[in-house]
Amino acid sequence: MSFESLGLSAPVLQAVADKGYTEPTPIQEKAIPIVLMGRDVLGCAQTGTGKTASFVLPMIDILAEGRAKSRMPRTLILEPTRELAAQVAENFEIYGKNHKLNMALLIGGVSFPDQERALERGADVLIATPGRLLDHVERGGILLNDVKILVIDEADRMLDMGFIPDVERIVGLLSPMRQTLFFSATMPPEIRRLADRFLSNPKEVTVSPPASAGTNIVQGLAIVPEDEKREALRGLIKSQDVKNAIVFCNRKRDVVTLLGSLKKHGFNAGALHGDMSQPARMETLERFKQGEIQILVASDVAARGLDIVDMSHVFNFDVPFSPEDYVHRIGRTGRAGKTGHSFTLASPSEGDLVQAIEKLIGTTIPRIEVAGLVTTDFEASDGRRRGRGRGRGGRSGDKPRGPRREAKEPREHHERKPRPPAEPHAEARAELHEPREHASRERAPREQAPREQRPREHKPREHAPREHGPREHRAEQHRPQRERKSDHRPERRERRHEGRDEPAPVGLGDHVPAFLARSSR
Ligand code: AMP
Repeated sequence: MSFESLGLSAPVLQAVADKGYTEPTPIQEKAIPIVLMGRDVLGCAQTGTGKTASFVLPMIDILAEGRAKSRMPRTLILEPTRELAAQVAENFEIYGKNHKLNMALLIGGVSFPDQERALERGADVLIATPGRLLDHVERGGILLNDVKILVIDEADRMLDMGFIPDVERIVGLLSPMRQTLFFSATMPPEIRRLADRFLSNPKEVTVSPPASAGTNIVQGLAIVPEDEKREALRGLIKSQDVKNAIVFCNRKRDVVTLLGSLKKHGFNAGALHGDMSQPARMETLERFKQGEIQILVASDVAARGLDIVDMSHVFNFDVPFSPEDYVHRIGRTGRAGKTGHSFTLASPSEGDLVQAIEKLIGTTIPRIEVAGLVTTDFEASDGRRRGRGRGRGGRSGDKPRGPRREAKEPREHHERKPRPPAEPHAEARAELHEPREHASRERAPREQAPREQRPREHKPREHAPREHGPREHRAEQHRPQRERKSDHRPERRERRHEGRDEPAPVGLGDHVPAFLARSSR
C-alpha cells in the first residue's frame, strides 16, 4: 500500500516523501484512514512501529482547517515522559513543515514563562506530560474545552508511572464532543477499562499481539553464572556483527561498573543512567547517535522512547524485573522494519524472571551458548539446577563462538547480593533503590493545594513491583542523602514513594526545541 492511498493531503505526502518513507508501516496503514474519518481509535502498538506518524500525519491535515485561539489548544497529545513528548514534537516539526501550525510543548525542565508564551499565542497542537499540563491548568493559563482531538499515548506506561489519576482529571476537563486516539503497547484489562471510559465506539487497531516482542528481532538467552556475565558479554559482542548496541543493566551501579570493565577491555563504550546530569546524558546520547560511541551501557531510563532506527543489538546484562521492560528494551532494536538482535544474559537464579517474560511474549527465548564459558541451567525453586550443568568450556564438540577466557584475567569485583527467588521484583527494587528514573515536576511558584491532598483512586498494577509497602520504605532509607535532601515537598515524596515519577528526559534536558522559540504566525 502507498501513502497516497491513505487520504493524506499533498503537503503532508510531500513531507513524508522528504523524510524518505516509501510506504506506510502497518499501524499507519490501518490508523490513518480511521483518524481522517474522525473516528476514535484504540491502538495496540509499541514504539518502533511508526505509531507516532500514524496519529501526527492525519492530525496535521485535520488541523489545516481552522485557527487556534489564545490559551485554547485545538488538540492535545499526552505523553508519559518528557523525552517522548519532545520526540512527538520533533515529529510534528518534520511532518508539518509544509503547514503553519503552532505547537506548544509543556514538559518539566523548561521554564513556565516560555510555555505560557507558547500557549498565549494559540496552540494548534499541545503536547504535554500530565503533571506539567495540570500545573498550567491550576495557574489558570489554559482552557481545555476547545480540544477537538485528544491523543493518549503509551497508556500502559502512564499506568505504570501512576499518571492515570492525572489523565482522568485532564479528560474530565475536555468536551465529550472530541475525537480520542488511545495507544498502548500492551492491553491489560485495566487499560482496556480505561479505554472503554475514554473512547466512544472506537475502531480497534492492533499491529502486533499485545506485549509481543517484534518478530524482526532475533533473540537469544544465555544462562551463565552471575560472575561470568561480563566475560559472556564480551564474548557475545565479539562474536556478533555489532554496529551499535545498548547494554541494559538493572542497577545504576552495575552500569558504572560494567562501563569501566568494557572500557578496560578496549570497547568503545559510554553510559546513560539517572544519576548523570542532564547535559552529560545529552552529550552521551548524541555521541551514541552520531556513532562516536558504539556501546551504550544504560539503565532502564533509556528503555523507552530512544529512537535510533539503525541500532543493531540490544544486550540485557540482567534479566529485567518486569516482563514488559523486556519487550521495551529489545524494542530499541529492530525498529521500523529493520532486523535487530537481542541477547540476554541470565544467571541461574533468574529463571522465574525469564519464565514471566516468556509467558508474556508467548514464546521461549532460544537458548544460546557463549563459547568458552560455563553453560548452566536455571535453579529449581529448591536451589538445585533444573537440568544438568556443564563445566567451563561447554560440551565437548561445541564449536567456540567467541574468544576463550584470557589466562589469568582478573575477575572483576562482583558486588551483587544473591536474590531470593520469592518476589524478585520488589526485592530487587528495594535493593537497588532505583525506581524508574524520575524527574520532579517543576511546579509553579504560586500554586494551589498540593495534589496529593486530594483523593487518589488509582491502584497500581498487581504485577508491578511498586506497591506501597515496607520494601519501598527500605529503598527510601537507602537512597543517597543527595537525592533525599530536595524531597521536602509532599508531592515529591508521594511521587517517589510510588516509584513512578515522570522519568527524566533523555537527550532533551535544557535544550529548548526550535519551535518553542519560533515567533507566532
Ligand atoms: P515510532 O514508532 O513512531 O517511534 O517510529 C519509529 C521509527 O520509525 C522512527 O524513527 C520513524 O522515523 C520511523 N518511521 C515511521 N514511519 C515510517 C515509515 N513509513 N517508513 C520508514 N520509517 C518510518
